Amino acid sequence: MEIRNDIMERAEELHQNSLVIDAHLDLAGELYFRRQNKEVNPLREHYLKNLRAGGLNLVVSSVYLRDDQLPEGGLRAALDQISVLLEAIEQNDEEFCLIRDAEGMERAFSEGRIGILLYMEGLDCIGKDIRLLRILWELGVRGASLTWSRRNDLASGCCRADLQARISGGLSQEGIEAVKEMERLGMFLDVSHLNDDGLEEVLKIAKKPLIATHSNSRQVHFHYRNLSDRQMQNLAAQGGMMGLNGCDCIVGCTGGEDPLWMLCRHVEHEASVMGIDRVGLGLDFCDSYTEAEPKYPGIVRKHDCLIDHSHVPELTAALLQRGMSEEDVKKVIGENWAAYFRKVLPKSSFSA
Ligand SMILES: [Zn+2]
Repeated sequence: MEIRNDIMERAEELHQNSLVIDAHLDLAGELYFRRQNKEVNPLREHYLKNLRAGGLNLVVSSVYLRDDQLPEGGLRAALDQISVLLEAIEQNDEEFCLIRDAEGMERAFSEGRIGILLYMEGLDCIGKDIRLLRILWELGVRGASLTWSRRNDLASGCCRADLQARISGGLSQEGIEAVKEMERLGMFLDVSHLNDDGLEEVLKIAKKPLIATHSNSRQVHFHYRNLSDRQMQNLAAQGGMMGLNGCDCIVGCTGGEDPLWMLCRHVEHEASVMGIDRVGLGLDFCDSYTEAEPKYPGIVRKHDCLIDHSHVPELTAALLQRGMSEEDVKKVIGENWAAYFRKVLPKSSFSA
């Protein structure tokens, strides 16, 4: 898609003057690898400039565990990642802060610091030990998905990333208990990566709005990581949201399709099915993560449609150029997630 210069300028301006939120980034895991690789301040080196260029106000960092860290090393690996993330925020506290509650989020917005909200991508690290959720909460974890694409003690993932096959089976008894305990604590529940049976079950038992932090539309591109129109309607009906994933295989642009055009089609379709207030960003940038992974030393793979956060205004410009109003675009790039987190986060630490 060719973007007109005047629209690109308008988009850049919007990013500096409105809220911009990315609801999914494997930041904690990447920082952990980079610290292992003896980098001194990877958050500043690899992220600060691009986040500022994209005008980001809030990033939701996952704690994601690889198969080779499970099951025995899972809890330790998760704690290691949280520790490294907290250290990185402390090291750069003029620029970043950990968000524990809605008050802290508003403060970050008004001070111009980039908020980082911590959540678990899969609860493999607690096994069946639901009481450990409280410990995660105390550490600052404010949300979780029951599982990544794999099966664990709580639920089944939707598929193996390299294998397109439907996986059936709902939540275990402990999975149901985990949902209840998360709601009691005040954690949000992410359903990206959950299989279809699990999602149906969770929709029945959850009393608070669910979100799919980084999933797209199955109608626009068929992938089990994406949601059907019916699933999207169900999420919207109970106040949930979804975040636009920018990874090429989830977007559906590995066959030469224009990435910006495909991203816009997902946003527009989701907005038509769920309403414009239910759509946000969950870009899932992964090239920088894989570059840091020990198993791919120095190998740079290119899967991110938007390259890095500094390129997110291109998506904004593309949406504007295709006719979305400025008011609606602002909702998609940040206002919708801000409204959601205002509602679900504890008001202040005292009430937590
Ligand atoms: Zn994911």
